[in-house]
Amino acid sequence: MDLDKLYRKSLDLIPLTSGEGVFLYENAPLEELMLIGNRLRQVHVPGSHAGWMIDRNVNITNICFSRCSFCNFCRRKESPEAYVTSLDDYKRKIDELYALGGDQVLLQGGMNPELGLDFYTGLFRDLKKLYPDLKLHALGPPEIVYLSRKENLSYREILKKLIEAGLDSLPGAGAEILSDRVRRRVSPAKAKTGEWLGVMREAHRLNLPTSATMMYGHVETIAERIEHLIKLRDLQHQRQKGHYGFIAFIPWPFQDEGTLLSSVQGIKSSYNGPDYLRLISLSRILLNNITNIQASLLTVGREVAILALNAGANDLGSVMIEENVVSAAGSKNRFDAGEIQAIIREAGFEPGRRDQKYLPA
Ligand code: SF4
Repeated sequence: MDLDKLYRKSLDLIPLTSGEGVFLYENAPLEELMLIGNRLRQVHVPGSHAGWMIDRNVNITNICFSRCSFCNFCRRKESPEAYVTSLDDYKRKIDELYALGGDQVLLQGGMNPELGLDFYTGLFRDLKKLYPDLKLHALGPPEIVYLSRKENLSYREILKKLIEAGLDSLPGAGAEILSDRVRRRVSPAKAKTGEWLGVMREAHRLNLPTSATMMYGHVETIAERIEHLIKLRDLQHQRQKGHYGFIAFIPWPFQDEGTLLSSVQGIKSSYNGPDYLRLISLSRILLNNITNIQASLLTVGREVAILALNAGANDLGSVMIEENVVSAAGSKNRFDAGEIQAIIREAGFEPGRRDQKYLPA
């Protein structure tokens, strides 16, 4: 294969095959990939702004039956550390969020066998009654699959009831790597590849804004990373004209500290900065129909994030006021609103504060 031909094809927004994606990943010089990623960024998101936002992660519960081997956050019901967040705690946390100028919560947590659809719809309604303009970016495909089984309802019915109760957008949580070989090793009790994609297909049909993610750097191959991107691109291609589909793609590396995957299976994170930049550029190249690529400042830190904004990414995500899942597995990065804007400026862009739909806030 000829690198120049593949670059031309990428710049013409022609979808690359998985073989071509793997070839680029393994053979293209990093600086060339970054250049192509950066030029494509200007095609999808022209201009000198890079996005950021303020939101708050509130974990609904840390009780989870799934026991994914990369997760340090979940607890068994009997654990003294197990919790289900109370309404008073939500109020305190959301009041703090509003005081800092944010109006969105990312509600995630474990799949607690004792919590069904009524619990989530009741929670969303209570929060919207208290804070009518609060945006709920909540749950993810694995929870929808779990609720669908528990309640014997279709994904569509579950999503419609959650939307009626106040769900504003669905995060792409739990994608890890969209390969059942990988999922059998790292998260065997969680939604399979087809289920994850099936939930997102229904969300797109309902015109619910969604994002897509990738948690990489554990047991997957390069070909599986590329296949993951192509599955997202193919699903995005099926969305109805004018529907949101995937608004953004956000890849982040496996954080191994204290995880069973590391201590029992001996799998350490393969993360390194150049490889992350390669992945960001390849994401921009392969995802020719997803507008926003977000670099995970929280997991890769300042220096790599600055380079990522020059490799195809156009966003650094959120000043995450509270984050307990990746930080439980070793991520020590924390940034306030001033720091995230300074990082964007250092990368050569103007900070553009945005909302969950990537519109100016
Ligand atoms: S990653 Fe999510 S689904 Fe998996 S064990 Fe942790 S909380 Fe449960």
